[in-house]
Amino acid sequence: MKTALVTGGSRGIGKGIALELGKSFNVVVGYSSSKDSGEEVVEEIVKSGGTASTVEINVTNIESIEKAFTAIEKKYGGVDVLVNNAGITKDNILPRLKEDDWNDVIDTNLSGSFRTSQRAIKHMMKSKWGRIVYISSIVGMMGNQGQANYAASKAAIIGMSKSLAIEYAKKNITVNCVSPGFIISDMTMNIAEKVKLFLTSRIPMGKLGTGEDVSNCVAFLSSDSASYVTGETIHVNGGMYMS
Ligand code: NAP
Repeated sequence: MKTALVTGGSRGIGKGIALELGKSFNVVVGYSSSKDSGEEVVEEIVKSGGTASTVEINVTNIESIEKAFTAIEKKYGGVDVLVNNAGITKDNILPRLKEDDWNDVIDTNLSGSFRTSQRAIKHMMKSKWGRIVYISSIVGMMGNQGQANYAASKAAIIGMSKSLAIEYAKKNITVNCVSPGFIISDMTMNIAEKVKLFLTSRIPMGKLGTGEDVSNCVAFLSSDSASYVTGETIHVNGGMYMS
């Protein structure tokens, strides 16, 4: 059985992805601080008949990435499906946006995905099969007030994924993005109720999305059914991008 690593897989959208991929892959649930939640996700997958384990992986730290991949290689042979889900926000309008907050968001969301992809590609090239899926965001396409750093990181991920898709197309390695709209998770729980109502009014489907809406697309892109799909971005936003 092939092995999937989900960064930030212990909660939120990543948890949903890990649970869904647990139906078809050995799943490695990556966590940087939420170890206990990661263990719970593993338990759930194993209870349903799957194979899973946790790994500590902080995508801003190259040693942590190396340690995690080495452990996965020892246990399962390597990472065949990499889901770059780990992400943070540090919002502020431009005059108040601290350079540290700009750097942290780019370092985690964009450079973190670059580091894990670079580490993962070696095994994928050797085995002549691989899937890399990035979790971008509607904010990377539309922009959003107070999220210049986040939008820049998520837009750049799309450019990076297209470049890698071309680079590895002949190696049977596909590289795609899933770009969620507003999805119920810890990240969106902090949005003020007033703003949530406004956002919902701009979504043609009239509701926020769920983790499942995202994980179903990730599962498709990770599967053999999507073997001829590369360099694509699937938008999961209830029609918000059109409105
Ligand atoms: P969340 O609930 O805040 O979870 C964030 C995840 O990222 C956590 O699992 C966290 O792991 C992990 N993480 C943060 N910093 C990390 C680091 N340095 N190294 C490794 N893992 C790290 O967010 P979410 O809503 O599930 O978002 C997941 C992804 O979807 C993000 O990339 C986000 O930008 C994207 N997204 C979300 C929405 C939305 O509406 N929620 C919309 C569009 C895109 P620990 O807890 O272990 O630290």
